[in-house]
Amino acid sequence: MKFDTKLLHAGHNPKEHNMCINPPIYPTTAFDFDDVQRGADLFDLKCEGDIYTRLSNPTNTILEKRLAELEGGVGALVVSSGMAAVTCAIFNIAKAGDEIVASSTLYGGTCNLFGFSFKKLGINTKFVQGENPEDFEKEITDKTRCIYIELLSNPALNVLDIEKLAEVAHKHDIPLIVDNTIPTPYLCNPIKYGADIVIHSTTKYISGHGNAMGGAIIDSGNFDWGSTNKRKEKFPELTSPDESYHGIVYTDTFKESAYIIKARAQILRDYGFCSSPFNSYLTLTGLETLSLRMQRHCESALKIAEHLEQHPCINWVNYPMLKSSKYYELAQKYTPKGCSSIIGFGLKGGAKAGEKFINSLTIPIHTTNIGDSRSIITYPYLTTHRQLSEEQMKACGIGDDFMRLSVGLEDVEDLIEDIDKAIKLSQE
Ligand SMILES: *Cc1c(COP(=O)(O)O)cnc(C)c1O
Repeated sequence: MKFDTKLLHAGHNPKEHNMCINPPIYPTTAFDFDDVQRGADLFDLKCEGDIYTRLSNPTNTILEKRLAELEGGVGALVVSSGMAAVTCAIFNIAKAGDEIVASSTLYGGTCNLFGFSFKKLGINTKFVQGENPEDFEKEITDKTRCIYIELLSNPALNVLDIEKLAEVAHKHDIPLIVDNTIPTPYLCNPIKYGADIVIHSTTKYISGHGNAMGGAIIDSGNFDWGSTNKRKEKFPELTSPDESYHGIVYTDTFKESAYIIKARAQILRDYGFCSSPFNSYLTLTGLETLSLRMQRHCESALKIAEHLEQHPCINWVNYPMLKSSKYYELAQKYTPKGCSSIIGFGLKGGAKAGEKFINSLTIPIHTTNIGDSRSIITYPYLTTHRQLSEEQMKACGIGDDFMRLSVGLEDVEDLIEDIDKAIKLSQE
């Protein structure tokens, strides 16, 4: 099946669900084991089937299979939010004393998780500025358990060289984890370029309508956790007996699916951030139109970026599909169909103009989400980042002129007219 067909059919066989053509919601916490032998086999992970919705649920399973196919992985796990997905992905391979090497330009929530909450648990992150793969390599030690990056992360909207970073990671016997939330599998499949684990906040473009929180982890199945002694030492939880699961050795029993099965059987079982089947259902409905939506998101964003770039009241525009972007070349390689729909731009006139601009917009909604069907404007200087000192803001690339627009699916002419009017009012 090609991508657009997978969006509608992958992972769902009506014959397995009372002939329902639309994936049904299974609002049940527990499942009948039937006889004792089947119950025992389920607990030994010897047969497929559901035990309890914290571990798996048929609605969630359809979404997992569909996402795995869309990203080209061997398996997926859906969880309650994007942050839960990041947490689960790291907990699955790192413990106190271990380290992460990560790009410094991560989603704010992930920055906090790595910089503060993981640190309290003894997992330390070394943040790397810029895009140079050698700078990532320099930070790797014997304690490093992964390289962690995002593609098109905001506000920098930078494109990192996945292929080169995967090479660096594999040379040091660690996996490359890529948060692919903003490109979505429609614009880029990081696994094709050597990424080992892919993460999504399905809350954004994948569900696409601003109505369901969710996260996902997709396992490429390509990283061989036990292929060398070095790897065995780094990832003992995957390659030696799990005392909490009858001494199972994940790499022996589940081969290339070891990582994703452990994430469910151990991390999801114990931490409990499972997805509600209702949210998976909403996400599956939204996902059906991903290609159509992303095409429109990208097309409109490019038009608006080009328009803003020639506007006399705009200081600068950041959108990697613009020839002026320093990420243009890499974007052509990794996201040739488009760069998703987030645009950063600088409005002349400082905070006073910024406030007037936001208050004058009538279509984009003033909030902090992205990837909604509706356009969203965010003014980090006076909202999301207002607690930071001027210096901290500078480090995040945020000034009093910085606006972030997540371009929605409205008529682009309406959006441009509304933006132009608000810019005019902001300069009065
Ligand atoms: C929003 C976001 C997250 C966190 O996802 P939630 O679903 O809000 O928990 C993680 N990474 C990126 C790139 C995001 O945009």
